[in-house]
Amino acid sequence: MAKLKKIGFIGTGIMGAAMAGHLLNAGYEVSVYNRTKSKAQALIDKGARWCETAGECAKNQDVVITMVGYPKDVEQIYLAEGGIVDSAKKGAYLIDMTTSSPIVAEKIYAAAKAKNLHALDAPVTGGDIGAKDATLSILIGGDKEDFEVLIPIFEVIGKNIVYEGGAGSGQKTKACNQIAIAGALAGVCEAFAYAKAAGLDIEKVYAAISKGAASSVQMTGVVRKGLDGDFKPGFMLKHLAKDLAIGNETATAYGQALPILGMVLHEIRNMEKSGQGAEGTQALLKYYGVVD
Ligand code: NAP
Repeated sequence: MAKLKKIGFIGTGIMGAAMAGHLLNAGYEVSVYNRTKSKAQALIDKGARWCETAGECAKNQDVVITMVGYPKDVEQIYLAEGGIVDSAKKGAYLIDMTTSSPIVAEKIYAAAKAKNLHALDAPVTGGDIGAKDATLSILIGGDKEDFEVLIPIFEVIGKNIVYEGGAGSGQKTKACNQIAIAGALAGVCEAFAYAKAAGLDIEKVYAAISKGAASSVQMTGVVRKGLDGDFKPGFMLKHLAKDLAIGNETATAYGQALPILGMVLHEIRNMEKSGQGAEGTQALLKYYGVVD
């Protein structure tokens, strides 16, 4: 098979802009589309071709990569009339890297297959830093032979690349990741709330427990920023709420209770209602009264 050279990249926000940048640097011909054009400007300045719609960005590409916000965005750009599935050339590879629903992934896989297209769900973990450093973990669902063809592209963006199984398996694995994050993040916030209530010096507590068995990426990479008064995302609370809702809904279908996830989702929904959804997940410290 000829080398895959032409990539359409849709969704150039916090994560997508960095990922598309690595593909440009690696020599791929990258076309971009994003709802807000200004967020693609740095890529356009580096040589990416701007497209006016998702359909235009998918046309005549070997590979189409999407990194948008919510499952509804994914459904719209793939399945709407004139969208990606309608516009992609026969044989093209479609990779959704958004954290989305496994049900949507299965739907896109079926629609793509009917048009001789190859669809994979490939959400990532590793945060904005992982995207910038090209060290993301990539969790992949779809046909194994399609995954194998795309390994050189995944290697440009990530370091830990794992094929999980059939369509939707990447998104199910990502739900596992977010379920684990929910408990870890809230646990760290609760520990510092306890420290404050007990009259301890939070920095001294951090100095002690961030180097022992309680240390985690949530503590040293995320909550640390909040203790320093930096609430810029990273990873937005509203996206964590979306991810936990996906976990919650699918867990019900699988007959699995997730009580800790339920509590954390409730807390984050309350924060969204008070207008804090676009802050980084470290802002959960505010909900616990650790910082103002
Ligand atoms: P983001 O900054 O909001 O980026 C998403 C981009 O997609 C935005 O620029 C948005 O446009 C664009 N978009 C949304 N719907 C679109 C549509 N229908 N057509 C065209 N463009 C559209 O979010 P992010 O932090 O990069 O996250 C992207 C995805 O990765 C989310 O699903 C998130 O949960 C997941 N994720 C994030 C992280 C992280 O640490 N940030 C880590 C792992 C996974 P606008 O600019 O107009 O809003």
